Amino acid sequence: MENGNRKAVSSYFGALTFDQKAMLKKLPKEVYKALQNTIKTGKKLSPEIAAAVAHGMKEWALENGATHYTHWFQPMTGSTAEKHDAFLTLDSDGTPIERFSGGQLIQGEPDASSFPSGGMRTTFEARGYTAWDPTSPAFLMKGGKDVTLCIPTVFISYHGEALDEKTPLLRSMDAVSSSAIKLLGILGVDNVSRVTTYAGAEQEYFLVDKKFYAMRPDLIMSGRTLLGAMPPKGQQLEDHYFGSIPNRVLEFMQDVEEELYLLGIPAKTRHNEVAPHQFEIAPIFERANIAADHNLLVMEVMRRVAEKKGFALLMHEKPFAGINGSGKHNNWSIGAVGGMNLLEPGDTPESNIQFLVFLVAVLKGVFKRSGVLRASIASIGNDHRLGANEAPPAVVTVFLGDLLEKVLDAIESGKVDFATEKQVLNLGLAQLPELNKDYTDRNRTSPFAFTGNKFEFRAVGSSQPISVPNMVLNTLMAEAMDELADAIQAKIDSGVEKDTAILETLRAEITATKPVRYQGDNYSEDLQDAAAKRGLPNLRNTPQAMRALLEPENRSMFDRYGVLSDQELTSRLNTRLERYIKGIDIEARTLQLMLKTFVIPDVSEYQGELAGSYNGLVEAASRIGLSDKTLKSQGDHLRELADNLASLLDLTTELDAVIEKLDAIEDEFDAADYCAEVVLPTMDKVREVADHLELMVDRSKWELPTYSEMLFEH
Ligand code: ADP
Ligand code: MG
Repeated sequence: MENGNRKAVSSYFGALTFDQKAMLKKLPKEVYKALQNTIKTGKKLSPEIAAAVAHGMKEWALENGATHYTHWFQPMTGSTAEKHDAFLTLDSDGTPIERFSGGQLIQGEPDASSFPSGGMRTTFEARGYTAWDPTSPAFLMKGGKDVTLCIPTVFISYHGEALDEKTPLLRSMDAVSSSAIKLLGILGVDNVSRVTTYAGAEQEYFLVDKKFYAMRPDLIMSGRTLLGAMPPKGQQLEDHYFGSIPNRVLEFMQDVEEELYLLGIPAKTRHNEVAPHQFEIAPIFERANIAADHNLLVMEVMRRVAEKKGFALLMHEKPFAGINGSGKHNNWSIGAVGGMNLLEPGDTPESNIQFLVFLVAVLKGVFKRSGVLRASIASIGNDHRLGANEAPPAVVTVFLGDLLEKVLDAIESGKVDFATEKQVLNLGLAQLPELNKDYTDRNRTSPFAFTGNKFEFRAVGSSQPISVPNMVLNTLMAEAMDELADAIQAKIDSGVEKDTAILETLRAEITATKPVRYQGDNYSEDLQDAAAKRGLPNLRNTPQAMRALLEPENRSMFDRYGVLSDQELTSRLNTRLERYIKGIDIEARTLQLMLKTFVIPDVSEYQGELAGSYNGLVEAASRIGLSDKTLKSQGDHLRELADNLASLLDLTTELDAVIEKLDAIEDEFDAADYCAEVVLPTMDKVREVADHLELMVDRSKWELPTYSEMLFEH
């Protein structure tokens, strides 16, 4: 087995990152210490030490074969961007020399005009700068012979507005930290200097053979199949989940993991998913900003390795209609840096009260801002998944499990008094540590589930960067923690004893947030009814969800916490609406092209053959004594084909008109609504007829690879 020759992962883990080991080797002691301090406190790197860090980093990169460096950042397009510069410069006398200054490290100057700004900058001031995020290690990206030093950065306009998704995430982590420290202080914990949030993203994806992919304009243009009849086998058997991973895929996974380990990304689990050709990779959780970078790298590395192995990687949330879609479960927790997880029950009643306070803060934040949370994961692809009875619904509810439900109910009913230890024990608080040991009471249908010592936000789409949902989670958490802290403090100030103040506050909040707790089946009608009765937002598509970002109450939260100014929020809203409209426009045009250049010609050709054979039969009928019944059956068959082709032609004309109309709509929300309410339903109508025809036409005449080929051939 080739694995036998492999080196232990720990011997090369992070070898391509400028990690502690590399820093120790390349940086003077004082500089190393200062940099470590910067990283620990989440501050910016001071210019004084930047030069020394840049020098060390350059030496390390050159030793590893790098010729270029780039500031690697997350623009609002939902991927990553980079602009490569060579280390090479010419000295004043023309001698070639590799140079990389402190200024170049902490600040780069990309031409920002080609990145979306959501209308924030006019073209003449389309400049921005990138600045190193020292908490995320620099790394070397290898592509063939090319080695580039990548510096994870933030991207900011000259007026100070965030042009990327990383900056707001970092700001939200600052907000979480100060609010959590304040709340901990009130609870009597005052030795914590920095609180952070952690994320672990379970990434689902499909692999299909590149030869099929290359023949599907829809996969190439939109990442999903716009046509394709369900194969007879479909997913009914569900024999794929955790089944054996085919060899070729296994090799792909091993190569991906090796590259990820070199990049210091702790890939942990791999397995088959529910659908055929669907798989999952999950790393060990890390600080949210690093996890966000790493998830983007995971996607990037997988894309490249897939290409090498003759696969196409499908990150779309719903590449195949009728087959399970792909998500990205975002495991999220909050904790003191290098210390306790605040969502983990401890083994004393006091630490469990602290745990309950943070748990209730999550309930409070998610309840109050569920619309914003829903908006954070709205996208073309995810619209096909959310609410499709296989993925979390568009309604955001929280699942806590039986034990916690009981605990919260007991507190709410007023049976508990934190002052008496016996009652605390009776309440079951002493048993809480059991929660994360074996948390079997899971609800796989919940969009936001507590799983022992973390929450799992399951509604995130497979192709989405996790920076945005984590930024929203952090911000709503900061706000909720502040509100809890203020409420407790107000009671204490009015003379209430501390434990009682905490208990009373918790009780009030448990009652107030009850509507967001849902323990039932989230795929059921019951949830839809419950959502309506409880007044929970049920935002079924992207434009509906994005409207949550128009509400002044929601906007002011981001502004108050210094995460997104009003203008920054607007620019994100614009960018995302624009991507939604453009994306659907591309899908509709791709479908149009496929109808006109594949489906209609293929069906017509077959129809011609069939008509020829029918005419021949009619001619021969009397000579060979053919019965009328036989002739009629053959005629019916031909007519069914012809009728369907006629419907398809009509629908193609309708689709043309719909696309034209879409292009004429000026207002972005109107256009987005039109996409959701008219364009997509028209595309569905087209598809129904085209898929029916696929099952009637001679296979050798049907040029598009079928679902059977793409999903059941290895
Ligand atoms: P599953 O949900 O499939 O059973 P696990 O619960 O083992 O899988 O873990 C899923 C993901 O959650 C992994 O990426 C893991 O590292 C991450 N995770 C575990 N603990 C935490 C935590 N405290 N905070 C954030 N993520 C976590
Ligand atoms: Mg999970």
